[in-house]
Amino acid sequence: MNLQSGTYYWPTTFPDAPSYPALKEDTSCDVLIIGGGSSGAQCAYYLADANVDVALIEKSTIGSGSTSTNTALLQYSGEKMFTHLVNTFGEDYTVRHLQLLKEAINEIEEASKKVAIDCEFNRRDTLYAASCAEDVESLNKEYQFLKQHNCELSFLTKEEIEAKYPFSRDAAIYSYNDAEINPFRFTHALLDYAARKGTRLYENTEMNGYHYDEERGKIIVSTKTGCSIQARFVIFAAGYEGMEIKKEKKASYVSTYTVTTHPVDDLSQWYNRTLIWETARPYLFMRTTRDNRIIIGGLDDNTTYPEDRDSKLIHRKKKLVEEFNKMFPDMKVEPAYYLAAFYGGISDGIPMIGQYEEYPNSYFLFGFGDNGTVYSQLLSKLIVKEIVEGNCPDLALYLQDRPLLNKGKHS
Ligand SMILES: Cc1cc2nc3c(=O)[nH]c(=O)nc-3n(C[C@H](O)[C@H](O)[C@H](O)COP(=O)(O)OP(=O)(O)OC[C@H]3O[C@@H](n4cnc5c(N)ncnc54)[C@H](O)[C@@H]3O)c2cc1C
Repeated sequence: MNLQSGTYYWPTTFPDAPSYPALKEDTSCDVLIIGGGSSGAQCAYYLADANVDVALIEKSTIGSGSTSTNTALLQYSGEKMFTHLVNTFGEDYTVRHLQLLKEAINEIEEASKKVAIDCEFNRRDTLYAASCAEDVESLNKEYQFLKQHNCELSFLTKEEIEAKYPFSRDAAIYSYNDAEINPFRFTHALLDYAARKGTRLYENTEMNGYHYDEERGKIIVSTKTGCSIQARFVIFAAGYEGMEIKKEKKASYVSTYTVTTHPVDDLSQWYNRTLIWETARPYLFMRTTRDNRIIIGGLDDNTTYPEDRDSKLIHRKKKLVEEFNKMFPDMKVEPAYYLAAFYGGISDGIPMIGQYEEYPNSYFLFGFGDNGTVYSQLLSKLIVKEIVEGNCPDLALYLQDRPLLNKGKHS
């Protein structure tokens, strides 16, 4: 899949990132992870402490997929409001999902403290603004729901927003304790942590075949380097390219765009360097970086053709900067990096773990959606618990057929 094009900021923050060899001989392991992006790294991180023999193969280099285009706002609120998820999944189900999301952000923080490589993790508050007056009511309902379920947040009026920011909106949810990270360094950090604990990592090693040997109860994966890997379990963490290995009807993708500016001298107008987004769909979002750049993203387009996606990049780059300037008219920004990328989602609004008859003992990690990094942290933990302990009740919340739907309680 032609995932993305343009220029990428995150890899420039880690020019001396570790590299790993290609697989040159047949091997075996307990758990094989396919994909060396943040999702594969999150799985490897949890498995590293579980005393199992783990190998990971990456067809290109670590973090070179969507991980290098990820804007890495770490939030529990996503494209579909929780009040809407309740309509589909019911209250208990949705509340458990919310709890697990909050835990996942805490787990990312804990991981970033444990590893040897600095992941540029920072706690940040979020401004979730009403894009128009008509959205104030639904935003207020969302606020009430989140407040009732122990989220730390406030509801800001127009005057309160104007007192904090150089722009105006009719209302906003101001939530505390979301976060941001450098996803490229995070991925390397987790894999470095796992490698130190014995996980074998192979770059430039693409899976090109999968076979289940029923007699021996083993999966045999073949690679383009001409080798085979025997494994008891396989985790497919191939990002949006996982859809090419196994088509999943609830998963789809669109095109999106981001700009990363040159560092700016003065961020004092940006209240608390909050993560900023809005109720419009598609939405505009922005954050700052460790070295005082601004990342602006959005202006999604429904096209799934790479040529079409890329032909709009120059126009979208200009438009993203214009949109930013409408909000911060006194801040002069110059694009340094800009990109077009495919961006996956799950139609019912919560991420998914695929388990399929033709792939025994295997898990497809489809952590798709705007909070992909948080979703993948959550799903990785559940998959690893299921593999290592043989039982993880929360896993059923995310299985592709949503087996707990309409059954009242989640467990
Ligand atoms: C523009 C953009 C902005 C985003 N912003 C946010 C955000 O603000 N917050 C957030 O939480 N999420 C965000 N996301 C989502 C986030 O980027 C993804 O959830 C995350 O990067 C997914 O990581 P991954 O490891 O699943 O996928 P990838 O990073 O794509 O990694 C998958 C890896 O698998 C490898 N692979 C594929 N097939 C094979 C094979 N056959 N054999 C071996 N290896 C294989 C690929 O080479 C790739 O390196 C954003 C996504 C995009 C595109």
